[in-house]
Amino acid sequence: MQEFSLSVPAPAEIGIMSIGVPKGSEIELDVRLESVIDGVLVSGTALVQLTGECSRCLDPISDELEVDLQELYVYEETDSRGRPVARTEQDDEDDDQRFVIEDHLDLEPVLRDAVVLELPLAPVCRDDCPGLCPQCGFRLEDDPAHQHDVIDPRWAALGGALESSRGTIDQTDTGIDKEEG
Ligand SMILES: [Zn+2]
Ligand SMILES: [Zn+2]
Repeated sequence: MQEFSLSVPAPAEIGIMSIGVPKGSEIELDVRLESVIDGVLVSGTALVQLTGECSRCLDPISDELEVDLQELYVYEETDSRGRPVARTEQDDEDDDQRFVIEDHLDLEPVLRDAVVLELPLAPVCRDDCPGLCPQCGFRLEDDPAHQHDVIDPRWAALGGALESSRGTIDQTDTGIDKEEG
C-alpha cells in the first residue's frame, strides 16, 4: 500500500455550464493505492476550487469542493506471452472499467465524474440570494424594497379587457334583477 498527497493543476473542462473547476487551478489529492489481486484500488479525496455564476443574481461564485474518489484499476489483459492485449478505442468508450496502463493510473476521468456529480445544477452565491427583479433586472439585494408601481402597457391593456367584461356581467345581472322585480 502507498499513500500520496500531491497538488496538481486542474485539467480543462471539469464542470457544467454554470460552475466548474478553472483550468490550471490547484487540485489537492490525498489518495491511497492498494495492491489487490486484479490490479490497484485507488481511494481518497480530491479538493478542487470552483468558480461559477449565481443562478439567481449572476454574481461570480468561488468555492471549493471535496469529493471522494474510489476506483479499481485492473491490470491490462495479457496474451500468452505476457504482452498487453491491444484494446480498441471502442472498448474504452463502451466499458467503464479502468486499467493500469504501463504502470500508470489515469485519475482524470474518475476525478471528473466525481466532481461533476457533486456540482449544483443551479448554484447560488448564498442560500437566500434574492436574485434579480424579473421586470427590470435590478439586483434585489441592493434594495429589498424595490418594486414597480407602473404597470407594463401590455398588462394595462389586459386590465382594460377585464373591466369591460365585468361591465357586461353587471348588465346581465341588472336584467335578471328587472325580471325578478
Ligand atoms: Zn446570488
Ligand atoms: Zn425592477
